[in-house]
Amino acid sequence: SKHISKPHIVLFPFLAQGHIRPFLSLFSRIRRRHPDLTITLVSTPGNITIIRSILPSSLSLNFHPIPFFPESHDLPPNADTTCNIPFPLIITFFKASESLRPAFENFISTLAGPVYIISDPFFSWSVEVSHKYNTLHSIFLTSGAYGTTVWFSLWSKVPLGLIPSVADEFQLPEFSDVTIHISQCSKHMLEADGNDQWSTYFQRQIKYFLQSDAILVNTVEEFEVIGLQMFRKKLFMPVFPIGPLFHSAYLLTKNICIAEWLNTKLPGSVLYISFGSQFMIHAKAMMELAISLEHMSHPFIWVIRPPLGCDTKEKFKTEWLPEGFERRMKLDKKGLLIHEWAPQVEILAHAATGAFLSHCGWNSTLESLTHGVPIIAWPLSADQFYNSKMLEDMGLGVELARGVMADLKRERVKEVVETVMGENKKGKEMKMKAREIREVMEKAWNEDGEEGTSMKGLNDFFQFAAKKMTDKQDIAFS
Ligand code: UDP
Repeated sequence: SKHISKPHIVLFPFLAQGHIRPFLSLFSRIRRRHPDLTITLVSTPGNITIIRSILPSSLSLNFHPIPFFPESHDLPPNADTTCNIPFPLIITFFKASESLRPAFENFISTLAGPVYIISDPFFSWSVEVSHKYNTLHSIFLTSGAYGTTVWFSLWSKVPLGLIPSVADEFQLPEFSDVTIHISQCSKHMLEADGNDQWSTYFQRQIKYFLQSDAILVNTVEEFEVIGLQMFRKKLFMPVFPIGPLFHSAYLLTKNICIAEWLNTKLPGSVLYISFGSQFMIHAKAMMELAISLEHMSHPFIWVIRPPLGCDTKEKFKTEWLPEGFERRMKLDKKGLLIHEWAPQVEILAHAATGAFLSHCGWNSTLESLTHGVPIIAWPLSADQFYNSKMLEDMGLGVELARGVMADLKRERVKEVVETVMGENKKGKEMKMKAREIREVMEKAWNEDGEEGTSMKGLNDFFQFAAKKMTDKQDIAFS
């Protein structure tokens, strides 16, 4: 009989922080379980430089750099990571990223023995490379099961005008108990006719996605019960929940001023505000938010990014905020503005943090709930709308505003912050629910005693993969 040697694991994250970080965390988990496997991360030189700066060097991860020569001349020359992409060009970037294919294929072709590709869904075209070289192909979904299912359902049905009852609210055809409001569909989705850039990109991605051998999901079985049920109903391949996986890049001790500031605050009193690594809110809403914060009793930490319309990389300008705002906030220790990359996980882990005003990117959502912090949601795009919906349905958050053009009102900010952070019935229930979910998240990776479901998910994936590879080789030999 044939001897199957140890697999070579190839990690292939998309070129964005929100994707790379959970992949690094996945790497650490695999490394812990399988100290002797070769694991290689394939990415562009720019991203590998970033990864090297955030990953402790003691961990044994190989890197395979592949150059990125996008054919589109619209993209800036250093465009090998979303950090350097102006937001309006993001779809151009998504599409251009497929130009990595020859270099990726070239790398896979050099590998001997069994190979398990763990690809980002944005690179699901790698399934064709996998078929060609008879490797195992899996996708590590860095978004949630519920959000992704709704997102896929909608993109498979554009133009949405074809849904008979498309009005303000409509039901998802396969999931009649899920009601979506038009305002929860991004502009590109509403305008999509099936032949535009967005539709063709996502539909292609979904097509490849469905050809993969298995899906790993950054979620927890007991947390996303309904989402996983829906996801499994839509897919024909095994789904392994292996979350929460996130990477904390900093030690708070390295950010002494933030730690010291938080240490002076009462438990659960601080509102943490961030809209992720790519999204921006518009100038008027930014002003209104600042005014609301100034009038509120809760202290806050706000990760400031330029308002919509500015260059993503633009340095902080005082005119984005009310006159003297930062100085006043500093003076009475009311608010801390962070102008650079914030140590988000550490802020959420601090006992003083009581709520997170978030765009509901999936990483932020998981990081918040893992630390028992309820969410004040302001979804801006894509699956964020459905993450926010799920949080509300589960009693883990309240939606404050919706979409980049939301007309934010200070009265509403006050009301929602009071609901989530205050001592009222709803607030208390939400905090209790958030603590319950924190326990669920904590148990997911249990090794001792009762094995956690994510631990089991990862073990099951490896068993599945070994069996699948044997089958593939049997077919290849027969
Ligand atoms: N993040 C961070 N500091 C920042 C901004 C973002 O550490 O100042 C991290 C955050 O902890 C999360 C990721 O970047 O892990 C953002 O991912 P998410 O899915 O929440 O949103 P995206 O940026 O992809 O929209």
